[in-house]
Amino acid sequence: IRRLCVILGDQLNRDSALFDDFDSTQDLLWMAEVQEESTHVPSNKQRSVMFLAAMRHFAQQLRDEKLPLHYSSLDEVCLRDFSAALAASLQQYQPLQVRLVLPGDYRVLQSLKRCCAEHHVPLELLGDNHFIAKPGEFTAWQKGKKQWRMEYWYRQLRKRTGTLMRGDQPEGGEWNYDKDNRGTFSAKGPGMLEAALLFSPDSLTQGAIDTVERLFPENPGNLLGFGWPVNRAQALQLLDFFIAKHLPLFGEYQDAMWINEPWLYHSRLSAALNLKLLSPREVIAAAEKAYQQGEAPLNAVEGFIRQILGWREYVRGLYWSLMPEWLSMNALDAGHNLPDFYWTGEVDMHCLAQSIKQVLDHGYGHHIQRLMVTGLFAQLWQTQPSQIHAWYLAMYVDAIEWVELPNVLGMSQYADGGIMASKPYIATGRYIAKMSNYCDHCCYKPDEAETENACPFTTLYWAFLRKHRPLFQKHPRLALQVKHLDAQSDEKRQAIAGREQWVRARYPANTYSTT
Ligand code: FAD
Ligand code: SF4
Repeated sequence: IRRLCVILGDQLNRDSALFDDFDSTQDLLWMAEVQEESTHVPSNKQRSVMFLAAMRHFAQQLRDEKLPLHYSSLDEVCLRDFSAALAASLQQYQPLQVRLVLPGDYRVLQSLKRCCAEHHVPLELLGDNHFIAKPGEFTAWQKGKKQWRMEYWYRQLRKRTGTLMRGDQPEGGEWNYDKDNRGTFSAKGPGMLEAALLFSPDSLTQGAIDTVERLFPENPGNLLGFGWPVNRAQALQLLDFFIAKHLPLFGEYQDAMWINEPWLYHSRLSAALNLKLLSPREVIAAAEKAYQQGEAPLNAVEGFIRQILGWREYVRGLYWSLMPEWLSMNALDAGHNLPDFYWTGEVDMHCLAQSIKQVLDHGYGHHIQRLMVTGLFAQLWQTQPSQIHAWYLAMYVDAIEWVELPNVLGMSQYADGGIMASKPYIATGRYIAKMSNYCDHCCYKPDEAETENACPFTTLYWAFLRKHRPLFQKHPRLALQVKHLDAQSDEKRQAIAGREQWVRARYPANTYSTT
């Protein structure tokens, strides 16, 4: 064998650089299902099936094309991790070189590098042409800037790619239409939403479901109703469906939440994008075309494109520039264990019960549920960053470290002290009451901080602000909140402190150390 060409579970794109000068007569494609990817964090069954089913479909496509492939399945041999799997193949095939596109996970990259070094086989790392940023472009953009902000990176990519541009000006005259994107539903709710497009498992997906049920029965999540797109044809179908049915109102309602409505107007495309069944370019082009044809308004299309061209490319750039240091940052000195209910959804706070149960059932939450419900509570609870990072990485079908970690440790937990987000995303229960109807069905009152019905978010919010007062007092965007804190009477402050003790006792936090 000349080259062993490694395809990881999130590298399922046939136009990958790995295939560029692949020679079937002397090279071998290599894929492996390994145990560690479902166990290093206790991966939601929905997430494990997503990966295994998509890998098995991609392998089938390669076989149909008669390409030489070594595929090791968990059904045949339970390999511990990538480096054990690769080591066995290096012995078996004795390749002159291993080729790999840059993985999405620092841990995997280090372990494969180590394995090749131990076996004295050179490893060639290829750039990932799935992303819109060219290799080195993000680092060059960062140079000389005191602060990095997504908005400016996004504008650079808009200009370079000509996306939503009129000459050198942004379409419509503004770069960002978020002021039009904060809609909430009236008391009647979102009305009749188009039913989500779900894909019934075929025999390959059913095989993956059986594997996961057999090997990881104790992992969180359940597999009834697994309906994610697991091959390119399905992913393209979901893209068309979203553009036609949900893109027009995506912008207006992107921050809204509603009981028993897990998807609302969101695209559900993140897992297909992250496994590279879809390219970001084709998703952006489809949205831009809908705008040009008058099928979706600019606020929706710009808002959607910004998530992909802006946020998605930005977090990837930041991940590779700040790893592995990011993993150990804890700027707010957060030290509490993650409450046990995160793993079960059994909790009386209705917003959290809804957001967590849907993650267990579908491996999905939309952005505001992740940021302003599960993320916000973990932040106000002052959860150890490594524990909440592990939870997010385990629970969502689209979770791969390059995209999960910056969103969790940077945007949602402020563990990096403001590298990613300009301020901590903190709020009382009032924010959730405004953006959803969760509070209408809850035993707590979002406006109250210290009474016997006080909303735990609101109690913890004031306690959090008090703990970090010296830091936040200097922050221009938090000064008003600190002023409100200072206006509280001593009596109220003591009552909130008492209620905080009640909240902490009510939600035990012991599971993590035993999972
Ligand atoms: P839509 O709302 O339809 O958005 C369209 C697309 O934009 C998404 O499919 C996604 O590819 C991209 N996108 C949107 N927001 C972001 C963002 N902040 N960063 C990167 N890409 C974005 N996204 C992941 O893909 N994997 C994760 O593990 C992940 N973890 C998150 C954890 C937290 C705490 C937060 C606040 C956000 C996280 N996100 C993550 C970002 C975002 O919430 C999801 O991409 C989105 O909810 C996926 O649903 P969707 O496809 O319906 O997205
Ligand atoms: Fe969540 Fe508080 Fe509203 Fe209950 S009252 S749903 S805990 S925000």
